[in-house]
Amino acid sequence: MPSYCTECGGMLVWDRKLRQYSCESCGMTFNEAQLSAARDRLRDRPEDDDDRRRRRHSEYLDWWTSSKQKKRE
Ligand SMILES: [Zn+2]
Repeated sequence: MPSYCTECGGMLVWDRKLRQYSCESCGMTFNEAQLSAARDRLRDRPEDDDDRRRRRHSEYLDWWTSSKQKKRE
């Protein structure tokens, strides 16, 4: 079953060394319990402070990703 980052929606890859999932896009790490808890939160809860923080983080991430891409060209 493929898993996706709860922060940015990126693909999660299993890190054998850390024994947890890490996001290819933002580098967040998740274990199984964190992943299922995060999925429950996303499904059940209206937006709160955590969600607003998360959105600010992803806006920062967009900026960071695009600046990185510019440097690569
Ligand atoms: Zn991510």
